[in-house]
Amino acid sequence: SPTVVWLRDDLRVDDNPALAAAAARGGAIVVLYLLDEASPESRPLGGASRWWLHGSLGALADAVAERGGRLTLRRGAAETVVPRLVGEAGAGAVYWNRRYGASREVDARLKQRLRDDDVEVRSFAANLLHEPWTVQTEQGAPYRVFTPFWRAAQERPVRALAPAPDSMHAVEVESDDLAEWTLLPTAPDWAGGLRETWTPGEAAARDSLDDFVADTLGDYHERDRPELTVTSRLSPRLRFGEVSPVQVWHRLNGELDDAGRRNAGKFLSELGWREFNTSILFSTPDLATRNYRSSFDAFEWADPDPAELDAWRHGRTGIPLVDAGMRELWHTGYMHNRVRMVTASFLVKNLLTDWRVGEQWFWDTLVDSDEANNAANWQWVAGSGADAAPFFRVFNPELQRTKFDPHGRYVRRWVPEYGTPEYPEPIVDLGETRRRALAAYERMRRTS
Ligand code: FAD
Repeated sequence: SPTVVWLRDDLRVDDNPALAAAAARGGAIVVLYLLDEASPESRPLGGASRWWLHGSLGALADAVAERGGRLTLRRGAAETVVPRLVGEAGAGAVYWNRRYGASREVDARLKQRLRDDDVEVRSFAANLLHEPWTVQTEQGAPYRVFTPFWRAAQERPVRALAPAPDSMHAVEVESDDLAEWTLLPTAPDWAGGLRETWTPGEAAARDSLDDFVADTLGDYHERDRPELTVTSRLSPRLRFGEVSPVQVWHRLNGELDDAGRRNAGKFLSELGWREFNTSILFSTPDLATRNYRSSFDAFEWADPDPAELDAWRHGRTGIPLVDAGMRELWHTGYMHNRVRMVTASFLVKNLLTDWRVGEQWFWDTLVDSDEANNAANWQWVAGSGADAAPFFRVFNPELQRTKFDPHGRYVRRWVPEYGTPEYPEPIVDLGETRRRALAAYERMRRTS
């Protein structure tokens, strides 16, 4: 009987354990992508992510078709749609790769329901180096601090790569038309900058990894400089699973030149943060809405001033590095990591705005917006997260600018009017707002 392979955050043919297992099982395969905005646990994708998803699914449909298969698109709540499709296809098995956030509940309910109908259900490890429950403290609890987490993780073996199926047999079932999902913006079409910057899809992801290892890994020690493009820019690819961390890991543990070898450990530790954040999400599914440290529940955030918030969102705060970052984000769906920290700190500390407001804006505008990484990093900046930066360490965006954009190239690229009369005055005084934030923090500490 046919196997339904339900793809989610794993939009690739290569190193896809669920797909490889379906090929090994034999018989026809229904490769399914389901746009599930109906299950109570699913968070609607942001605009930039929808744009990316459209491109990535188009590329996946081609890759599946090249192997003789067909990508089936459906929309609706998984618990209704998947069993219905199983019936239509006469499938005897449903395979998927695991996810780690709140949607696990959807998977658990569906698994039960399908098993009650005598359908074989199997789930696979695919999108992390290590399953969260395999990296735990001696007491069997999740790690709350990164360094021991990553030390323990590195002692564990990484799984072997799963082979891409050479050929697939498709089952004739109906599919939605991707265009009708209207994942792309229409009026206004704000995606011009995204199109200029990115080519979604597995083949482009592979090229991107190749280019990074060949050309830039050797310069990765300069990763904090936003004007240099020495980081991998693999984040949206990892988010949508166009490339797996296991593929990246094997690549970085393969042949490298000397400079590459010197930087590989640092680069892999960034993947380690992705693992750490996902393991935090696994134990705290509501990470995007709840303070990981509950002492922050008593923090008195200021009511957001709509004009200030608007200035932050659109890069008109009069603080050049903040404005450059927010404009890069709006134009390309991406922002350099150092600048993400600075823009987030400015919102949370200088504007005293609840981190969740910023998390939601990034969720909507980042092409890599990720349930674990976005929430965990916002909480890291706010001081409310696991192994977070202490709240009282307030970034000074002007010092950050002179340190990390010493030639002013990054700021000039995104804020060409900086230094002219058109450029606005700062919307807040950095020193005064820093003192206000520290006072609010002290009040919280006294009450908790
Ligand atoms: P590289 O330096 O090449 O790193 C390689 C990979 O490691 C990245 O692709 C990413 O998967 C992972 N990684 C790197 N840094 C981090 C980190 N700090 N935390 C977790 N994983 C990391 N990253 C996301 O993937 N999605 C998000 O939604 C996201 N939101 C963020 C929000 C804030 C406020 C901050 C401060 C950071 C956020 N990050 C997020 C982390 C980081 O900024 C990006 O992963 C990184 O900039 C992506 O660029 P890159 O692929 O070139 O990174």
